[in-house]
Amino acid sequence: MMDYIQFKTCRKCGTKTERSLDEETAAFVQTRQWSITCPNCNSKILNEGCNTPPLTYDLLKKWARNDSLQFIEQDEDIILADNNRLGLLLDIFDSDKTTEYKRGIIIQALCVLLYDNLASKEDNPESDRKIADRIVRELNERKNMVKLGKGQFIEPYIEKVVFPVIGFEIAWNI
Ligand SMILES: [Zn+2]
Repeated sequence: MMDYIQFKTCRKCGTKTERSLDEETAAFVQTRQWSITCPNCNSKILNEGCNTPPLTYDLLKKWARNDSLQFIEQDEDIILADNNRLGLLLDIFDSDKTTEYKRGIIIQALCVLLYDNLASKEDNPESDRKIADRIVRELNERKNMVKLGKGQFIEPYIEKVVFPVIGFEIAWNI
């Protein structure tokens, strides 16, 4: 099933080229890579866009098992941090097929999510103290597995709020 459209627009002449991708190909930066030159003027300077699928359990599982797959190039933790996705993230964190590196990204995402849920209703109307309490509990239950790896980083403004609440500091495994 080809459901997702990827397109390139030439910056010189405006010619638009598109192709359709299946869900799995459209989901990851690495699988949707597409190198073409403009079919009209041969320019290599093209703007690119792609419709991407929602992050389903199946896509997250695939992502979690392979360090070279990314949903976006930077700040994956921010797109993963969603209250509706908390159970899913914990489930994937606990899977023994999930790599250490991807566990680190899930930890980053949980810290972002905790930060969001500790915010006042004024700052974040969707913040939910019960979810914040649950994240603290879940992190403490997994204390020994809570690590970050190379290239992983928790923003200082998040760390400042989140570390005192979870009651321990997140270790680096390098
Ligand atoms: Zn062109």
